[in-house]
Amino acid sequence: MSLNAYFKKTKGRDAVIKILQSEDAPVDAAHIYEHLVKKHVSINQATLYRILDFFTDQGMIDRFEFQEGKQRFEIVRGDHHHLICEMCGCIEDIEDCNIKDLEKDITKKKKFLVKRHSLEFYGVCQSCQR
Ligand SMILES: [Zn+2]
Ligand SMILES: [Zn+2]
Repeated sequence: MSLNAYFKKTKGRDAVIKILQSEDAPVDAAHIYEHLVKKHVSINQATLYRILDFFTDQGMIDRFEFQEGKQRFEIVRGDHHHLICEMCGCIEDIEDCNIKDLEKDITKKKKFLVKRHSLEFYGVCQSCQR
């Protein structure tokens, strides 16, 4: 790889991670791409997807699919879940629900060793209820 290509790659990765760090809910690739354009980071969509794959493999970002027909990405920030509004499509983080207790309960009652879970809440957000 040429030095120029190397710097471009590093710059792209840095920019993607910074964008994801500034978000407080999972965002799609198009959203990330818009930010890259605003920051004048010139990478193409294929490179963006490679960067997202790279960070997902590294365990630095999480990849989600919320029945929207597209993927969303979020910086790994511990155990939490998402609230998805079926009216406007907004997504919000929710911390501290008692899933860990439920996991222990399942293991105890069903003798099933829970290793991971996937849980989203679908409904109507506060502003869509007005
Ligand atoms: Zn809404
Ligand atoms: Zn989240």
